[in-house]
Amino acid sequence: MAAPIISAKNVHKTYGRGQNRFDALKGVSLDIHQGESVAIVGKSGSGKSTLMHVLALLDSPSEGMVALAGQDTATLRGQKLNRVRNETFGFVFQQFFLTPNTSVLDNVILPLKIAGVGPRERRRRGMAALEQLQLSDKAKNKATDLSGGQKQRSVIARALVNQPRVIFADEPTGNLDSATGAVVEDILFDLNRDQGITLIIVTHDEELAARCDRRIYVRDGLIVNELERAA
Ligand code: ADP
Ligand code: MG
Repeated sequence: MAAPIISAKNVHKTYGRGQNRFDALKGVSLDIHQGESVAIVGKSGSGKSTLMHVLALLDSPSEGMVALAGQDTATLRGQKLNRVRNETFGFVFQQFFLTPNTSVLDNVILPLKIAGVGPRERRRRGMAALEQLQLSDKAKNKATDLSGGQKQRSVIARALVNQPRVIFADEPTGNLDSATGAVVEDILFDLNRDQGITLIIVTHDEELAARCDRRIYVRDGLIVNELERAA
């Protein structure tokens, strides 16, 4: 079997020091294989986002290691790290993180710009991603002018534009009403099923978690349970 796309071994994450020291992760080990859908579930403050940030190489562990496709990531730094992250991962956050007064298309092509893709190719791929999310008619609108659901679809288009192997979604439906949230969920699971994109979803929503192949339960910085979806 191929090496896991992401493997965490005994990951600790400590914030602050002295009196302010807080152990947000206390020794987490986890293997995620290409094509899986995995939910990281737990109450607010349990360490879900911290774990996601470490798995996504947005933050480094205080102790332990994270491997990407069998390669230890500890030596990745600076531009090299940014490039690997940008090429391999797409991100969907609850708070969208769109640049408000910039067009939807410009928001979507940002990862391509970072990757050094030329303007024509950026535009072509950006429009293709918007098309896929049924947003091509909004390409020239400012991001602020979109509804919540349209914003999150734009964020998914941006996550897809680099053809990532993994999409990380942190509470992706947290700012959406339930009908719109359901649409966004369906889009993510379709991408997982149809394109084999690994899906790692941080959520406290049990119903969303239950749609994933695996549910990893986090409490006080530790994995306390793991469930597989009934076939
Ligand atoms: P969750 O996503 O499950 O709500 P987080 O991973 O965001 O939890 O946070 C886990 C714990 O770590 C919380 O108690 C939070 O207050 C603390 N924490 C998170 N980020 C920081 C930080 N940058 N500095 C200090 N403490 C932090
Ligand atoms: Mg969180």
